Amino acid sequence: MSKNVTAAHTAVDIQRVSLVLNDLRLPAIKLVWADFAARADKEGWPGARLIAALAEHEVAERDRRRIERHLSEARLPPGKTLDSFAFDAVPMISRAQVTAMCSGDAWLEKGANLILFGPPGGGKTHLAAAIGLALIENGWRVLFTRTSDLVQKLQVARRELALEAALAKLDKYHLLILDDLAYVTKDQAETSVLFELISARYERRSTLITANQPFGEWNRIFPDPAMTLAAVDRLVHHATIFEMNVESYRRRAALQRQSRAGRPPTYATIKSTEELSRSDNQIND
Ligand code: ADP
Ligand code: MG
Repeated sequence: MSKNVTAAHTAVDIQRVSLVLNDLRLPAIKLVWADFAARADKEGWPGARLIAALAEHEVAERDRRRIERHLSEARLPPGKTLDSFAFDAVPMISRAQVTAMCSGDAWLEKGANLILFGPPGGGKTHLAAAIGLALIENGWRVLFTRTSDLVQKLQVARRELALEAALAKLDKYHLLILDDLAYVTKDQAETSVLFELISARYERRSTLITANQPFGEWNRIFPDPAMTLAAVDRLVHHATIFEMNVESYRRRAALQRQSRAGRPPTYATIKSTEELSRSDNQIND
């Protein structure tokens, strides 16, 4: 074969390769194969090495895109990571235990739960979101929602006789983060969608709950005491509970800034820390 014939042959193939890669749904290979092939020619890679490099690239890109999709579906509050969480501010929580939980496996596979208790501003939402983010990076699917928002949606579904389908849709999430359970309002409690959600996930899918109030106060969340008892029973059967009984992080940070500045607290400082603690409460209202 003359050199010209070979070149023409290659040119035809190049166009076809792109089409075929489209048909085969290999978009990552389609983007890079020409560069990889040129490099293989230049560096004299064996054919098997080129194929392996292309296949690995496609797999890595798929993983990246999947994690990107899982991140956008999770609706995590932005900027709340484990790296930006000061573990020394909550000495009752072990970083090692949290890190172990973030690799998922055992607890997510058996549908165990995680419950974070503590007063406003103590870092419950931050820690919950950071755990969610770490789990997504490890390949799990997570949904973060304010409890009252989800309850509202499930009530609408119930009215449309579609509650079961709505609950089944949540099954795809290995972890459902219900932020601020205590802020479910009394009229939301009139229906028991939250109880049905908890029952539907029991021993199958994990739930992470944050709450300002201990179990004793949960009677205000469920329609009657028997249902509260049954809900708590299911939630704690396989659960890790973190008691984050610390003062508001922002208030402490503000006070620390003040004392580092070396000035005694003034009326203005005291006032502004009061405002900070009020805004902590508002955030959770
Ligand atoms: P909660 O949900 O318990 O009311 P948040 O998680 O909303 O508290 O925390 C209030 C603010 O303080 C947030 O901006 C959060 O990022 C920050 N924060 C709380 N605890 C910590 C911590 N241990 N390390 C870093 N930031 C924290
Ligand atoms: Mg919160």
